[in-house]
Amino acid sequence: MPWKTRGNGAVSMKVENGNIKDIKKIIESAFGRYARVDDEKTNPGYVIIGKQPSYDIYENTVKDIVTIKEVEKLLNSLGAEYKGYKNKRGLIGATASVAWRPKNDKTYELISYRKEDKWGTKRQVDSNSVIKMDRTISSTFDNFDHDNSHNRIVPSSPCPVLYGIRGEKEKDLIDAKSLVRSEEVAGWLIFETNQGTDEHLQIKKISQIKPYQSVITKGTVTKGPHIIKGGHVIFLIKDSTGEIDCAAYEPTKKFRDIIRELNIGDKLVVYGGVREKPLTINLEKIKILHLEKQKEKVENPVCPKCGKHMKSKGAGQGYKCIKCGTKSDKPLFKDKKRGIKTGFYEVPVCARRHLSKPLKRIQP
Ligand code: ZN
Repeated sequence: MPWKTRGNGAVSMKVENGNIKDIKKIIESAFGRYARVDDEKTNPGYVIIGKQPSYDIYENTVKDIVTIKEVEKLLNSLGAEYKGYKNKRGLIGATASVAWRPKNDKTYELISYRKEDKWGTKRQVDSNSVIKMDRTISSTFDNFDHDNSHNRIVPSSPCPVLYGIRGEKEKDLIDAKSLVRSEEVAGWLIFETNQGTDEHLQIKKISQIKPYQSVITKGTVTKGPHIIKGGHVIFLIKDSTGEIDCAAYEPTKKFRDIIRELNIGDKLVVYGGVREKPLTINLEKIKILHLEKQKEKVENPVCPKCGKHMKSKGAGQGYKCIKCGTKSDKPLFKDKKRGIKTGFYEVPVCARRHLSKPLKRIQP
């Protein structure tokens, strides 16, 4: 069963003039002290390597599935020093991290850390100060979900991170930090990251889409949105190669209201991760290119001779003028007003994946 690495928080750094043996000692001692190997979800790993692996391994990891065997083979061929703990999954993220470089895009994240005696206790980060920071420093993103009152800069795990502020500019992040009121910060660092870049997505025709990929695909709605158990909204799109279901799951909250407005014939580009059974695109955002005109009946037809509205003869049986007997089967229609416009729509901040590019970065 493939397991898609997500939000694994792999970190890499360059060290000059280091002796690999010494670096290994430092890393293993840090692992011994801090790695929570007793947590069943934690499968850490480290890689020390003299030469940066090719960008391809990073790309394959974020866009597709790579195996631990493949990664070990690559690391061996590059003479890397490495270790994977427990099921060794952490090796994949660690390898992708050293292979990454900001080739096409990058963002920054300022991470503030907690004092060690606070680890595992409830974090004190003032939400109002985060809201103010979010409104003041416009180059930051995904700080606060105003609709769902969710303070996104604060993690939910009991880790040493107090908060992380994501943004476009290093300098602005320092200003942003000064606006956040919180418990004492033990220290902070700014990381260069692939968060908010959409680097996990690949453009595909529908028939090329495989489970566990994250894709951008264009299609026409062939079956309108319907709600399934759990409050998820599903619709079907097709292109010249095939059909696929798209879903706005319950955690995407108000985004589902947009999806529910879609209709047969609408053309859109969908962005999202692909689940296997049933094969479905889990929507991260959509771009509506075209809204199909919808007609709605406004009134009964008017008799061309008498100028009066005709009467209905019953469901599906047309209309008749009660004065002169003229018949018609066509009521008057007008274009139905659509509840949405063309353009981009995205899931709320509280449902955003770390790699998803916020619309704020696409159309500031
Ligand atoms: Zn008439």
